[in-house]
Amino acid sequence: MGRAFAYVILGGGVAAGYAALEFTKRGVSQGELCIISEEPVAPYERPALSKGFLLPEARARLPSFHTCVGDNEERLTPKWYMEHGIELVLGTRVKSADVRRKTLLTATGETISYKILLVATGARALKLEEFGVTGSDAENVCYLRDLGDANRIFDAMQSCPGGNAIVIGGGYIGMECAASLVINKINVTMVFPEAHCMARLFTPKIASYYEDYYKSKGVTFIKGTVLSSFDIDSDGKVTAVNLRDGSLLPADMVVVGIGIRPNTGLFEGQLTLEKGGIKVNGKLQSSNSSIYAIGDVAAFPVKLFGESRRLEHVDSARRSARHAVAAIMEPEKTGEFDYLPFFYSRVFTMSWQFYGDNIGEVVHYGDFSGNTIGAYWVSKGYLVGSFLEGGTKEEYEAIAKTTRLKPAIEDLGELERQGLGFALTV
Ligand code: FAD
Repeated sequence: MGRAFAYVILGGGVAAGYAALEFTKRGVSQGELCIISEEPVAPYERPALSKGFLLPEARARLPSFHTCVGDNEERLTPKWYMEHGIELVLGTRVKSADVRRKTLLTATGETISYKILLVATGARALKLEEFGVTGSDAENVCYLRDLGDANRIFDAMQSCPGGNAIVIGGGYIGMECAASLVINKINVTMVFPEAHCMARLFTPKIASYYEDYYKSKGVTFIKGTVLSSFDIDSDGKVTAVNLRDGSLLPADMVVVGIGIRPNTGLFEGQLTLEKGGIKVNGKLQSSNSSIYAIGDVAAFPVKLFGESRRLEHVDSARRSARHAVAAIMEPEKTGEFDYLPFFYSRVFTMSWQFYGDNIGEVVHYGDFSGNTIGAYWVSKGYLVGSFLEGGTKEEYEAIAKTTRLKPAIEDLGELERQGLGFALTV
């Protein structure tokens, strides 16, 4: 049994939603496009899961955050897909792909064939077991990648008002979940091996700004150590967390955010991989000309850096999706993807944006005891990265524009003195 489509999007996350909208804008016909997703719901804005979804009041719930609301575009509800003749195959895992035959085999035994395939399989959360710790399946141990995970965190929070949560990991997920837990009046201890939070992006100075704020909200940080085991009661619930430094922390719930791994498994040995993802060119096309890769799973050339990167951020998922569809539908008119890497986060009432690359020397600016702080990264005499907390729309646009221009910087002291003013006058 099988069905055939001109275009198939494999994966139903952020990139899939934005690709679907772009397909309709460029005139895909009824019945030509199909989206296959393991998730039981139509594509949604994944970042909402650690933010609005976990709030105690005015919680974000579907359908309010289906794509593409994150970019002030249309909200693509299941009805929208139906009206546009797009087949949504939900709750269905693809278990194998045959790129030679151009077919996908689903776990339900159906073969779906394509002329063009967009791989948008994203990434999965790394499990503690991959680091030699068991207990991930305990009822009150939570990860956060999809709606099911977010519901689990929400239920765990509801079941322990005023209780203790241990957050393992000091990256995006850890920081955003810790803030949401505190807002829900849960006591939070964050545990991570690095010297400071957001170690892949923040400088020690920026990190301490956020850590101080978190501490003022009651969060405790335990750094430089890792989880070694859980104490689990006869009901299968974690009651305490043992750390490698010997400490024992009582726990009513645990949230684990220790990184992600791109979902490339279906294509290993069939497509060229790079940086842990599917290698694509400036048109988001893989080593097989009928297959494109977008979002977290794609390693694409970043012109500005002169090298390929795999980015795990929502803006890159949205834009790579649009560009791939443009390249598929109008190849002659579509140039190379020219992307300025952009990350953001919102925690408590704070909000930051980062553009570019965090390499080279750093210049900080702003009042680190106030609400607006920032930094520039300067590499080989050029400004390559910009960070800003608490900016206005115009200020964020200014740092983005400045980073894209890559201006030469002769005097770091002068750049520090000008601070945000530098971006505003470039
Ligand atoms: P995903 O959105 O992960 O979608 C992948 C889809 O593929 C899923 O539907 C999955 O079920 C499906 N799939 C995978 N394998 C199969 C298979 N074999 N068969 C069928 N379906 C399959 N980024 C930011 O820049 N800022 C933020 O503030 C931010 N917050 C975030 C908060 C959370 C809680 C999370 C989890 C991520 C956050 N991100 C953030 C990252 C951002 O959400 C991702 O970069 C983005 O979702 C990537 O989109 P994608 O379409 O590539 O992958």
